[in-house]
Amino acid sequence: MERLGVMTPIEKYADLIGQAALDRIFAKARPIFGMRVVHINSTYNGGGVAEMLDPLSILMNQVGIETEWHLLQGELDFFSVTKKMHNALQGAEIHQTQRKMQIYEEVLRKNAARMHLNRFDRVVVHDPQPLFLINHYTKNCPWIWRCHIDLSRPNPTLMNYLMPVMDKYDAVVVSAEQYKQRLQVPQRIFMPAINPFSIKNKELTEDEVDERLWHYGIPTDLPLVVQVSRFDIWKDPQGVIDAFKIARRQVNATLVLLGNVATDDPEGPAIYKSLLDQQEDRIILISKDDTCLVNALQRKAAVVLQKSLREGFGLTVTEAMWKGTPVIGGNVGGIPLQIEDGVNGFLVSDVEEAADRIVRLLKDRRLRERMGRHARQTVIEKFLLTRLLEQYIDLFRAFET
Ligand code: UDP
Repeated sequence: MERLGVMTPIEKYADLIGQAALDRIFAKARPIFGMRVVHINSTYNGGGVAEMLDPLSILMNQVGIETEWHLLQGELDFFSVTKKMHNALQGAEIHQTQRKMQIYEEVLRKNAARMHLNRFDRVVVHDPQPLFLINHYTKNCPWIWRCHIDLSRPNPTLMNYLMPVMDKYDAVVVSAEQYKQRLQVPQRIFMPAINPFSIKNKELTEDEVDERLWHYGIPTDLPLVVQVSRFDIWKDPQGVIDAFKIARRQVNATLVLLGNVATDDPEGPAIYKSLLDQQEDRIILISKDDTCLVNALQRKAAVVLQKSLREGFGLTVTEAMWKGTPVIGGNVGGIPLQIEDGVNGFLVSDVEEAADRIVRLLKDRRLRERMGRHARQTVIEKFLLTRLLEQYIDLFRAFET
C-alpha cells in the first residue's frame, strides 16, 4: 500500500470512540486486508454523498482495504434526467419518456465500457445515477447498491422501471427502516456519518470563525439563524424565509441561507435565482462553495434550521449538532433519526412550528446550551465515520465464503 501519512490518521478517532472500538475495527478489517473495493457516484462535490465518500474511502485505505472512488461522466441532459429520477424517488411526478430512458441508459453504457469494474472484489454503487451500470457486466464479485435518498414514498412508475435492476445487486443499503423496498435482495440500513476532523467540522477559534463571517460581510451584532443546504425544493428554503419572517415579529436576528450547487443537480441555479429577490435587511443568501464558511456558520449560529420536506438523512443536521448548535429540523426522512424532539433539538412539521421554535431558542440561552450539549453527545455516540466504516467492513465480509 502507498504511504498515507499526510491525511488525518484513523488513530485520532480513539480520542472520541475509545481505543477498544478502534482495535475492534482493525481486527475486523484484517481478514479482508488488500480487498479491492470501488465506490461509484456522480459528483465529486456538493451534497452528502461526496461529503462522505471522500473521507470514507481514505479510512478504508487506512485499514488496508484497497479502495478507489470513481465518478460517472455525463452531459448536462443526463444529469437533468437523473435529477428528475431523484425527485421522483422522493415522491414527485415524472414524465418518463423513451428519450429520457435512452439518454440515461446510453450514458451508463458508455461509462461501463470505460470503467472495467471486473477488476474489483466489491463494487459499491451510490444512488440512482449509476444504478444501471450493473446491466453491462457479467458479475464476478458482489455488487452493492447504496441509496442515500428518501425512499419513503417513491413514484411507482419509476420504481417499476428501476426495481428489476435493483434486484440484480447482491445487497441494497438504505439510510432508514422506512426506505426499504419490496425487493428480492437483502437490504441493510447504514446511517450516514461525518468526519469530525475535516475543514468543515474541525474546531475553529473564535477569531477564525469571525474572520470567515467578516469575509462575506455577515453581521454578527444579532443572533444568527442559519440553513446550509443545496438550493433544492426539498430543502424548503422558502419555508425557512417564511418562518424567519414570522419569528422576527418577536425576536431580532439575522438569517443566513448558504447553499451550493452540486454538479449533478442542474435545478439549483434557477432555485437560487428565484430566491434572490427576497433578500432584504437581515435576510442574506450566499451561493458559494466554502467549507470553512459552513463550519464557521454552524458554529456561530444560535439556531440552525434544516426545514426539509424530504430528506434521505441530512448530514447538515449532524454537522451542526457536532458543533453543539441546536437544530430545528423538518420531521421527515432521516432527520428524526438524529433529532430527538425537545431533547437535542426540535422537530417541526410546518412554517408556524419552525417560527415558534426559533423564538423559543432565541429567547432562552440555557435551552440552547442544554440542547447543544445533548446534540454533540448524540453525534459522538452515533454519527462518526468509524461506525460507518465498521458497517461496510461487516457487509464486505458477509460475502466471504
Ligand atoms: N454543503 C456545503 N455547502 C453548501 C451546502 C451544503 O458544503 O453550501 C454540504 C453540507 O455541509 C453537507 C452536504 O453538502 O455536508 C449536504 O448533505 P446533506 O445530506 O445534508 O444533503 P444532500 O445535499 O446530500 O441532499
